[in-house]
Amino acid sequence: MITIKTPAEFEKMKRAGRCVAAVHREIREAVRPGVSLLELDELAAKVIAAHDCLPSFLGYHGFPATICTSPNDVVVHGIPSEYRIREGDVLSIDAGAIYDGYHADAAFTMAVGEVEPDAHRLIEATRRAMWAGICTVGEGVRLGDVGAAIEQVAKEAGLGVVREYVGHGIGRQMHEEPQVPNYGQPGKGLKLRTGMAICIEPMFNLGSEETKVDPDGWTVRTADGSLSAHWEHTVALTPEGVVVTTLEEPGVVSEMGLC
Ligand code: MG
Repeated sequence: MITIKTPAEFEKMKRAGRCVAAVHREIREAVRPGVSLLELDELAAKVIAAHDCLPSFLGYHGFPATICTSPNDVVVHGIPSEYRIREGDVLSIDAGAIYDGYHADAAFTMAVGEVEPDAHRLIEATRRAMWAGICTVGEGVRLGDVGAAIEQVAKEAGLGVVREYVGHGIGRQMHEEPQVPNYGQPGKGLKLRTGMAICIEPMFNLGSEETKVDPDGWTVRTADGSLSAHWEHTVALTPEGVVVTTLEEPGVVSEMGLC
């Protein structure tokens, strides 16, 4: 079901979103060779608590940590471990927070020091695809339009679009209807309306789109071992316009020069 969000509800979603943006900033600043994924998880927990929020992921279907840490061939849902970050790693971080019952969810991928040129291409194309999707969102736009815009960027860059994991509605739950695929046909699918909020989150692979899950039941890897990237923002259709909530200064994208 789609949740209709009142102005007060959108404000709470923005509070949660600011918290997630702060988690991203603090983690970006902390990432360097030698830092463990568990240390990043502890940092995220502190930032979330300091913002009077709760972590969305901890305990979700039994997920054991505050954030997802997904290095290199891990697509999504990596569990923070003792693994220490190395020069040349490509690291995806996904974080979710709840403020007074309302959720925000966002992810980014970063290069650690010098990485192979293809890694930069992958990270940048995935980020660009997320913004292509966000900038397609609007009243009356269909999810197929959003998916097609994202998929087009992958095609032009020659990257694999992960199909088994998709974006989603968000609000009182982290994962609400509808599903928001990173592929689609223009003019098809659900029509977006004011009052909806969705997470747009392309996952692209340098190689094939196929994925596999580790025996831990969480860690999703590329089937061919190729690098993967993941970018995500929470996007709300408010009466004022399309707002990305997961920025430190959330605002209407068209007024912020983001689209
Ligand atoms: Mg998400």
